[in-house]
Amino acid sequence: MTVEEFILAVKNAGITLTKHQIQQFEDYFDMLIATNEHVNLTAITEKNDVYLKHFYDSLTVSFYEQELQTGEKTLIDIGTGAGFPSLPLKIVFPQLKITMVDSLQKRINFLQEVVSALDLAGVEVIHGRAEDIGQNSNYRESFDYATARAVARTGVLAEYTLPFVKKGGKFIVMKGAAAQQELVDGKKALATLGGVLHDEFEFTLPNGDARYIQIVNKNKKTPKQYPRQAGTPSKKPIG
Ligand code: SAM
Repeated sequence: MTVEEFILAVKNAGITLTKHQIQQFEDYFDMLIATNEHVNLTAITEKNDVYLKHFYDSLTVSFYEQELQTGEKTLIDIGTGAGFPSLPLKIVFPQLKITMVDSLQKRINFLQEVVSALDLAGVEVIHGRAEDIGQNSNYRESFDYATARAVARTGVLAEYTLPFVKKGGKFIVMKGAAAQQELVDGKKALATLGGVLHDEFEFTLPNGDARYIQIVNKNKKTPKQYPRQAGTPSKKPIG
């Protein structure tokens, strides 16, 4: 997807990017590629691929959860890596307040540089593991949305994300072809942690790759014992 195709595809979804936003994506791309020379940020480096598989794919969340486009919502992105999906969302919807979490300090340093270079306000970047931060009362049960891309299977991811979501908020699951099986496997985890599936959208990226976005509503508080100690959710998934 060329930059022009990206602008058009986003426009077809009802979002007109400003010159400033287009420039912010260009600057983000340049920094990603330059830093990736010495810090492992992404295996995707070809420009058309970055625009499709990182930038456009990240924005699809807002096509299906449209309140992200207008409301002054808070969103936490667990295992954000080089900033996906939350940074593209922040560029396009500046009123959104985002919190990016990753356990690798080098990726956090990169994110801080991008936030500063793009002059973004309303962004918090946190170094740490979801299991530890999820027990911190400053962050627990306090976000409208939690999301994550390419971090863990849905059942494990639920333990990383749902403790952060306030009652009445949502966990947005971004997945490929295994989405429905992962949801079945993660059913007990979702229920235990206070989540219930509300909606599911199946679509394809412009290159034909299968994508699913599942909206999980948080209807009950997460019991205090979750998330468990760092490492336990992936070693001993609930259910
Ligand atoms: N979300 C990004 C994307 O879609 O490109 C990055 C995906 S990368 C495959 C997974 C990231 O999750 C890594 O940056 C890793 O450091 C982070 N991560 C894995 N487990 C984590 C945990 N328990 N808490 C915080 N970050 C975690």
